[in-house]
Amino acid sequence: MNVLVINCGSSSLKYQLIDSDSEQVLAKGLCERIKIDGRLKHSPAGKATVEMDSPMPDHTAAVELVLKMLTDSEHGVIRSLDEIGAVGHRIVHGGEKFASSTIITDEVIEAITECNDLAPLHNPANLIGIESCRKLMPDVPMVAVFDTAFHQTMPEKAYLYGIPYEYYEKYKIRKYGFHGTSHSFVSKRMAEILGKKPEELKTIVCHLGNGASICAVKNGKSVDTSMGLTPLDGLVMGTRSGAIDPAVIEYIAEKGKKSISEVIDVLNKESGVAGVSGVSSDFRDLDNAILAGNERAKIAMDVFCYRVAQYIGSYTAAMNGVDAIAFTAGVGENNATARAGIFEYLGYLGIKLDTEKNKLRGEEVQISTDDSKVPVWIVPTNEELAIARETVALL
Ligand code: AMP
Repeated sequence: MNVLVINCGSSSLKYQLIDSDSEQVLAKGLCERIKIDGRLKHSPAGKATVEMDSPMPDHTAAVELVLKMLTDSEHGVIRSLDEIGAVGHRIVHGGEKFASSTIITDEVIEAITECNDLAPLHNPANLIGIESCRKLMPDVPMVAVFDTAFHQTMPEKAYLYGIPYEYYEKYKIRKYGFHGTSHSFVSKRMAEILGKKPEELKTIVCHLGNGASICAVKNGKSVDTSMGLTPLDGLVMGTRSGAIDPAVIEYIAEKGKKSISEVIDVLNKESGVAGVSGVSSDFRDLDNAILAGNERAKIAMDVFCYRVAQYIGSYTAAMNGVDAIAFTAGVGENNATARAGIFEYLGYLGIKLDTEKNKLRGEEVQISTDDSKVPVWIVPTNEELAIARETVALL
């Protein structure tokens, strides 16, 4: 079956058409500047990539163009829309309502809408993607796959904050966690690589991208993760601060004459390694700046690695041990400097870095030495494939 995977943002829409039998990507692409002017990049397998400007007054127009390109005689990969068997939608927040993926019905749409307050930037856009697809493909079954669902197995002690319990009861303020599709995919793959069942392993997955989070996966289930109510918590990221003393918010507001939402904006968009280094949120730029002797770039990298190492220690304690560690996403898969920096803190676990293997990037490879007590691997993530698999499994 061909599954169309849709990841809809407020002004963008990423898609992949995946043949679920061979797990091959038939086409992928990105619509940008939706509601502004509209730009499409479409890459069909085995054919040239097409880039074009095309008006996209709303998301429905973007989906319409995607469907046209997929069936186009020159740039397409299928003859008609009948060849799309299902659509899998990435949904950022499922709150406590969704502990797994689900077939989309009117009731499900209503329940997702009720989670909008928890992810005001993402969920409404995800819902628009669903509505647009339903309009254009009313008879095709659709599945919602949630970033938060995998973490619904966390115990209370991990997801409750130390604040008055009524805030949890009234407003559902708690840790939810994100990147669940990736953490689930990578932890399962880690078990396969090691020839074990997920139920036999304690794995720490380090999803280090522009957004970054760590997950403790015990017996195949998420037992803790570093992002919280929102994706701002936890690790120091590209532009996000990660965990800070909450009193800092009032302090910056007062000193910098900013509103609370302006301070949150600073923590989301001007912080992280970009804010510390003053160079960039991109680790390739950080690497180059460090090589050129930029001291603050070096400090930013140190802050990033130190925080990751702290979480690895914390999750080893939470699971009373660790059997495997996996690095994934843009930085985790590609950045040798960050990985080496993190390894410097892992000696107490008997973990040793294979410096030659660590030079590899973007491929599935063990980067710890053979005599390392805990195997450490690069395991490339594939959230679209995970969504396609979930979609097929549910249908
Ligand atoms: P993601 O959010 O998973 O797409 O990750 C994006 C980040 O991955 C970028 O900001 C880069 O810092 C990092 N990255 C991607 N490719 C490379 C590379 N070849 N070398 C080093 N870092 C990379």
